[in-house]
Amino acid sequence: MKALVLKKDGLRFEAGYPAPEPADGEALVRVRLAGICATDLELARGYMGFTGVPGHEFVGVVESGGEGLDGRRVVGEINCACGSCEYCGAGLGRHCPERSVLGIMGRDGAFAEYLALPRENLRTLPDGISDTEAVFLEPLAAACEILEQLDIGAEDSVLILGDGRLGLLVAQVLALRTTSLLAIGRHPGKLALLARRGIATATVAPARERFDVVVDCTGAADGLEKAMALVRPRGAIVLKTTVAGDRRLDLNRLVIDEVTLIGSRCGPFEPAMEALARGMVDTETLVSMIYPLEEGAEAFDHAREPGALKVLLKP
Ligand SMILES: [Zn+2]
Ligand SMILES: [Zn+2]
Repeated sequence: MKALVLKKDGLRFEAGYPAPEPADGEALVRVRLAGICATDLELARGYMGFTGVPGHEFVGVVESGGEGLDGRRVVGEINCACGSCEYCGAGLGRHCPERSVLGIMGRDGAFAEYLALPRENLRTLPDGISDTEAVFLEPLAAACEILEQLDIGAEDSVLILGDGRLGLLVAQVLALRTTSLLAIGRHPGKLALLARRGIATATVAPARERFDVVVDCTGAADGLEKAMALVRPRGAIVLKTTVAGDRRLDLNRLVIDEVTLIGSRCGPFEPAMEALARGMVDTETLVSMIYPLEEGAEAFDHAREPGALKVLLKP
């Protein structure tokens, strides 16, 4: 099959890559559309030491092995858990130590004609959600995860750092909970997408104001340091950024101000799907361009450009 393959020496298109062979309980899914996210760009720079087919944001059609799901349009939870350890028993399969993660760890991903996932990971889509919307469900679920981890109320002031792909989704999701929300970014064009939805934006952080919750969606090594300077004492920082390589910083501020630091990764699909179906979140304006798989390297370059929004791949 056609696939974009990440090897030690970089990313390249292959026309004859072996198609995945679904294990027991897994379905084969034909990919219709896949999205490039910051994690993929970091993987290409060596994050997680991943080799194989990257890609974890997708919409596809079940080709075989889906039992009742064959022929259905689906998205998928990307963490493939063992189902029998203590984490799995507690419903925390996303943290199963034996897990593989689609296109990130131990399992080929969505930048290919086909992928394999456990049937129980698949979520069927209502007709009302288009492919270009559905491909945002995985990152939108990651945005919804913040509301699972932190009880944000209408009175809480929230600052979103970063106007990248995830930042724009996080701002829209958290704006459903609080009106006291500010999104900080570097790109007036991206911030305008939020302003159109009534969300306050700025290109520089306020000099004196401090926030109850600061969400780091910068994707940059210094994002946490910036967040630490903007959170109020006893406030919370939600960290969404993963970067290839080390970062050094002085953590004393966290102790002195008794700040809660919350790492946040994948999230629940159900609230994400509901937000999309009810038109509460806009994703259509977040698409920059759709590339064929053959032009995957160009697509990655495009996704790396500072002003780029979501770049999609169509096998
Ligand atoms: Zn992602
Ligand atoms: Zn497990």
